Amino acid sequence: MRLRWTWKLGRIAGIEVGIHPSWLIIYALVVTSAIGFTPLFSPELSHRSTIVLGLVAALVLFASVVAHEFAHALVARRLGIPIGGITLFLFGGVATIESEPNSPADEFRVAIAGPALSVALAIVFGALYAGTMALGWLWVATLCAYLALTNAALAAFNLLPAFPSDGGRVLRSLLWRLNRSQAKATLWASWVSVVFAGLLAATGGYFVIADREMRGLWWVVLGLFLWQAAVVSGRRARVDLALERLHVADCMLKTLIPVPANTMVASFIGEVAGSPGAGYPVVDRGALVGLADVRNTSGLPFAMWDRTPVSSVMVPIARVPALQGHESARDALMRLHESGADGLPVYEGGELVGIVTRDSIFRKLHDGAAVRRSA
Ligand SMILES: [Zn+2]
Repeated sequence: MRLRWTWKLGRIAGIEVGIHPSWLIIYALVVTSAIGFTPLFSPELSHRSTIVLGLVAALVLFASVVAHEFAHALVARRLGIPIGGITLFLFGGVATIESEPNSPADEFRVAIAGPALSVALAIVFGALYAGTMALGWLWVATLCAYLALTNAALAAFNLLPAFPSDGGRVLRSLLWRLNRSQAKATLWASWVSVVFAGLLAATGGYFVIADREMRGLWWVVLGLFLWQAAVVSGRRARVDLALERLHVADCMLKTLIPVPANTMVASFIGEVAGSPGAGYPVVDRGALVGLADVRNTSGLPFAMWDRTPVSSVMVPIARVPALQGHESARDALMRLHESGADGLPVYEGGELVGIVTRDSIFRKLHDGAAVRRSA
């Protein structure tokens, strides 16, 4: 998730930390809750030391949230998953992980790292509370008690099964491990999250209407936020699932029109290219040397078209990964993305049988959806 309008605080261990203005609302709420908590716990403390405690407690809790997000980010980095940065916003913190984990085990490790760190902090603050209380340092003891409770609450809140929260990701990693399909696991985890978020919002609504308890409003807002996030993930998972089920052999361009390497771009565009649903392998003395696509010529000035051979604008075959017909369209898209190529060759028994492109995949997916709709 990316939030606009964030203030950049700086970099820690090479990871950028930013604050979204909406975080100020949560900061004010935390200060208020710490000030409300103090007299219940230590009525002896003066009003002034209670306010100072509230401000300090909110700052340390803020550092605890950053530490929680760092635990996710550092584990992800160690597993080779690129990370974008950490942002604090209305609902706490978020570490932007740039790509999906490669395995259920990696996903589990990244997801559990944050709550595990929050639990560890809760234990440390709990121990500090016991120690300082024994020494009679009431102010510090109250601060530590508050931080122990809030860090424990942070861990519990993050472990709620609402994808893409930590708990939702833990759930998805387990489902993924069970049925071996990341897309299917995401879809199931999203359904659980939609139900959970709906229940949360409905319970909050009940408190507001039946008990006139305004705190229920927070649950409603949170439930709707989680519901929206789960619906978006579910929608993406359905596309992923369709891609996972589609084989490269069923979505590749099968009509292959060989183009001799010395064909000029002008005649390639004017005479050869343009047949719908065809791919253009470039051949030199009978051997496949590259793949040509009209898009490869887009940077070439028109005046150069009849002086430039296709071999100068094609994607050399050595530079693109090869695919097999039984591989999934999802893998093909991933490799198209990684290689930056417009098309990838598909081989069967060492022979070129097709070319797969982004367009060929999505056209097939779109046609499939249209057939299902009309059925
Ligand atoms: Zn987390």
